[in-house]
Amino acid sequence: MHITGRVLICDPIDHAGISALQKAGMTVDYCPNIDGKELIYKVKDYEVIVVRSRTIISREVIDAAINAKIIARVGVGLDNIDIDAAKVKDISVINAAEAAINAVAELVIGNMISIARNITRADAEMKKGNWIKRDLIGTELSGKYLGLIGVGNIGRNVGRIARALRMNILGYDVIPISQDYIKEVGLIRTDLNTLVESADFISCHVPLTSDTRHMLNAELLAKMKPSVYIINTSRGGVIDENALYQSLKADKIAGAALDVFEIEPPTNRLLVGLPNVICTPHIGSQTKESQELGSTVIAEKVIQIMYQKSNIH
Ligand code: NAD
Repeated sequence: MHITGRVLICDPIDHAGISALQKAGMTVDYCPNIDGKELIYKVKDYEVIVVRSRTIISREVIDAAINAKIIARVGVGLDNIDIDAAKVKDISVINAAEAAINAVAELVIGNMISIARNITRADAEMKKGNWIKRDLIGTELSGKYLGLIGVGNIGRNVGRIARALRMNILGYDVIPISQDYIKEVGLIRTDLNTLVESADFISCHVPLTSDTRHMLNAELLAKMKPSVYIINTSRGGVIDENALYQSLKADKIAGAALDVFEIEPPTNRLLVGLPNVICTPHIGSQTKESQELGSTVIAEKVIQIMYQKSNIH
């Protein structure tokens, strides 16, 4: 399949996808540090714009992208792209939903074990020369209730691994959950209130939309068990960070493991600095495997769509 066209890559992506696009005949400009102003100036020359989560594709960028046919997100969430503006201009918006499933799910499980067993604190104290064994009584995952908010690709995978750790799985979603999956992990479907009241661990896996923004607010946080741990690898805005800070500071909940923040890097230093919070800098899909898969999946989709579009016009 031979196609032509220019691709602007605005964020760091794995080389595998770049090679695939070049092999197919496309000209690729790799600008992983491009800023907003430069993007608006350059974007008119490209048929394809590729981003991860750093670059914001606003209405202004889309208006300037007079030749754009595809906006591609190497990753899952599309909240950094103005999808409505793209639709008006008949620009296809694509992502690589399949690429992050293992990477994010494994980070969630790692975070659950880490926070329940105080691993990061133990390590930090050991490095200072302190042996604080007596202070480090943790909690086991086995037999506990894990509440999945959003039972999509990543949520389902978290449930599978958690089941293997002998956890009980609760799930809340706005769309039906397949019977096969319910049987596979023994999932108990609940409403959101029941989930937050019953779970020992709560893991968020919904996209950030106007419906999910601050979905976990002060009212729901107040209903949680004091022993609950919250894991968020979805989007920071899904939790009201100020309400979360107040709950954690007052020990109304046991802890939180956060990979994502309302503003990234987080400006809410008080939240990040709490002893019952562990943080990572949005590394959910930062694995070699996920990056390579994401970039090749996007390249394949771009080649396919460009081929179809060139045959239509
Ligand atoms: P997905 O689309 O497969 O699943 C999302 C699920 O959320 C769907 O089942 C959907 O029905 C459900 N949902 C949507 N709105 C809801 C609502 N209001 N209430 C309840 N459920 C609702 O997406 P996924 O691949 O599982 O990814 C989940 C999220 O994880 C993404 O949207 C993205 O924001 C985030 N993510 C983060 C990283 C990271 O690096 N930390 C990497 C990949 C994805």
